[in-house]
Amino acid sequence: MASSSSALLGVYRQPPVEMVRGAGVELFDADGKAYLDFVAGIAVNALGYGDPGLTRAMHAAVDASLIHTSNLYRTQPGELLAERLVERSFADKVFFCNSGGEANEGAFKMARRWARQRGGPAKHEIISLRGGFHGRLMGTLAATDRPQYRAPFRPLAGGISICERDIEELRAAVEAETTAAVIVEPIQGEGGVRVIEAEFLRDLRALTQEREVLLILDEIQCGYGRTGTLWAHEQATIKPDIMTVAKPMAGGLPMGAILVTADVATAIQPGDHGTTFGGGPFVSSVALHVLERLSEPALLANVRARGEVLRRELDRMKDSNSRIRAVRGIGLMWGLDVVEPARDVVARAYDLGLLVCSAGDHTIRLLPPLVIAQDDVTKGAELLARAIGEA
Ligand SMILES: *Cc1c(COP(=O)(O)O)cnc(C)c1O
Repeated sequence: MASSSSALLGVYRQPPVEMVRGAGVELFDADGKAYLDFVAGIAVNALGYGDPGLTRAMHAAVDASLIHTSNLYRTQPGELLAERLVERSFADKVFFCNSGGEANEGAFKMARRWARQRGGPAKHEIISLRGGFHGRLMGTLAATDRPQYRAPFRPLAGGISICERDIEELRAAVEAETTAAVIVEPIQGEGGVRVIEAEFLRDLRALTQEREVLLILDEIQCGYGRTGTLWAHEQATIKPDIMTVAKPMAGGLPMGAILVTADVATAIQPGDHGTTFGGGPFVSSVALHVLERLSEPALLANVRARGEVLRRELDRMKDSNSRIRAVRGIGLMWGLDVVEPARDVVARAYDLGLLVCSAGDHTIRLLPPLVIAQDDVTKGAELLARAIGEA
């Protein structure tokens, strides 16, 4: 067993094991033990490990002999990727960055830029929802509803507040004069896998439109096919003004993006935002491949079909086991509320060769690769049932 590296800053609580290899939907540790992976690098490894197409795309991107140029110069892969994203979404323009938190920070800036043009400096407030997670940077931390992440870093960025997940509360909070944007995850991931109802999203869309406030959808975890449609919000038949994406978008390479409507884009001027690495030719080439794969109707159908199997298995587990309080989710994004501390279940699953993660103190979160086969879904559910144990 590998010893923990003492040179790494101690921000992560890691089990004393070292992962050395992945294949398909499994990870292998230094002792050769296999783990069925229902974490997928926190919804990043949608294509699993060692996917031949992804590997080829990475090799081709290296062989193209242009890794990085900075945004001082045009390069083709990023321009093509932006075009493809525009074709496949509500958006008209795209900005590339390097992570989810960075995408949301940028989205806040774009929203403020747009709002200032509409209503002057008073119109700047960003509102997020109870249970929301939008990142751990200074701006996004203020929009993230996790007291233990926030408390040590006060004062948090101003002009960002959290509202209850209630349309009437939002109606009271959203003011045309002072609110720039509302940011929502269609399915709250870190906050316990809470599916925001389609009706709520539609009401929120109507409310923000009525008040001339932007709707930002954070699809960093739930986007890119995770729910069985390319974008989670498609299922509520709404369109945002801004959407942020990241986690799976470049097959494990760090990348994020901000997608905006033409209306938002008109407010943005050269110099308003920027990044050294964002949208470089190497990472964009790989992301082009990932977008093609995760847009395939057959892949999305697989997510929906496996998701239904998982739903049935989890519902059955809940009905027969009082240690499971609730089951929530959609597609291949699921949360189970358990009576004991989630971390104990995560540790027992781990011993049994199953990787799951938590989303809060009493919620187990499941985010398997989107290419998972039926047998592995069933196997994962069985191992999870053993890890949770009987009442
Ligand atoms: C992971 C996540 C983020 C933050 O992304 P990082 O790449 O870790 O900065 C933001 N929003 C949501 C919904 C996420 O799941």
